[in-house]
Amino acid sequence: MKSSDWKNINLGTTLNGIRHTMVKRVLSPYGRYRRFLMKSQWWPENKLRQYQFKKLRNMIHYAYYHVPYYRRLFDQNGVKPEDIRSLKDINRIPILEKEDIRLNHKDMVAKTKFIPVLYRCNSSGTTGKPITLYRNLHNVGFEHALIMRQYAWGGIQPWERIATLKGELIADSKIDKEQYWTYSSAENRLVMSSYHISENTVEMYVKALKRFNPVAIDGYPSSLYALAKLMLEKNIRIPLKAVFTSSETLLTSQKQVIEYVFACRAIDYYGMAERVAAIHTCEYGQYHIIPEYGYVELLNCDNDNGDYYEIIGTSLTNFAMPLIRYRTGDIIKTPENPVFCPCCRNYPVVEKIIGRMDDYIVTPSGKLIGRLDHIFKGISNVIQAQLYQPDREHIVLRIVPDKSYREQDGKKILNNLQKRLGEKMLFEIERMSDIPRGGRGKFKSVVSKVNISSGTFERQAV
Ligand SMILES: [Zn+2]
Repeated sequence: MKSSDWKNINLGTTLNGIRHTMVKRVLSPYGRYRRFLMKSQWWPENKLRQYQFKKLRNMIHYAYYHVPYYRRLFDQNGVKPEDIRSLKDINRIPILEKEDIRLNHKDMVAKTKFIPVLYRCNSSGTTGKPITLYRNLHNVGFEHALIMRQYAWGGIQPWERIATLKGELIADSKIDKEQYWTYSSAENRLVMSSYHISENTVEMYVKALKRFNPVAIDGYPSSLYALAKLMLEKNIRIPLKAVFTSSETLLTSQKQVIEYVFACRAIDYYGMAERVAAIHTCEYGQYHIIPEYGYVELLNCDNDNGDYYEIIGTSLTNFAMPLIRYRTGDIIKTPENPVFCPCCRNYPVVEKIIGRMDDYIVTPSGKLIGRLDHIFKGISNVIQAQLYQPDREHIVLRIVPDKSYREQDGKKILNNLQKRLGEKMLFEIERMSDIPRGGRGKFKSVVSKVNISSGTFERQAV
């Protein structure tokens, strides 16, 4: 990390906290959306559908008259907003690829005087340059209310103390003093660094957590797992009410260790920088697509009518930069048989969040293999692991071993990997003290330099 990047962030943390709180809770219609979401979660299915259609029609109408890109796209395809008479009619609008946003970036921002504040954020840019995305206050308030409802589903109220471990930056001056966290008084949060968790620092993290005494931690699965794993080695457990995970795929092996160390459920939720879809976990541990937030279409990934789908999402709340039928690259698995969740919400059920399209290994014959966490089955001596694929024939297994790691652990993982990927691939292990994180501090369990677009998704048991 360059010290110039971190300069003055100490003062920035406080100011940022105040700014975020002001924007999220005071300036945005957060309170109104919070009350709305507490009611709408119990709506019958037809009412939810009607609501979605009304919002979708508004968004399409708005995009046509205020966003140059959509005016052009609709005209080219002979579509008028009035032609969208049901949810299904959205098929008449072409799917939006990330590349389309990149190429038409300026024309995708709404041209209107009625958006008083544009909130900037970046896509994490796992492939290519990150894209700047804009949000309006409605989207900011709605999303904040939605996350507060997710916390409530996990038994946590907005005023309770929460620690975060989500790739946030901590000031250089603090890091120099071996303080890997900061306190955001405006949000009543302990913001911890995802970049400094190690055998040497774990006890300091534990001390800070005990002193702050949070009811929950919200973080990246990889960061929470690294912390929990090191705590487990030292026989330290901190009971919490809940742990929330998001932004990366939560692996079963990570979930087990996190839940044991923090003596509570790990509650996973899904959202993304483009803000077109959200999936949250209810009190019964079931993933639900949130219909009030985005209109989600599921694009089948298999050729044999399997249950794996890519999420195509349309924002129902972001009028600053409307994204209609955006192809997210994120894969989910739906249940084989209908699931009636005991929570009684009429929200669609998702069995698993599989991960991103670009989290796949491409085999020499062009098969795409994802979700490889089962290769670590029976191995507990690894803190972090990443599969790096420089070309079609090679896989490098990067690992951060713990103290009890033995060479046979590595061989066992390679053996499991060979069974899954087989063919004529060459495998090697690279031991590292730390594996660098990607955009916004996110950890990628697979990094492939091979172009996946020519590959075929392989259906697999996960
Ligand atoms: Zn449920």
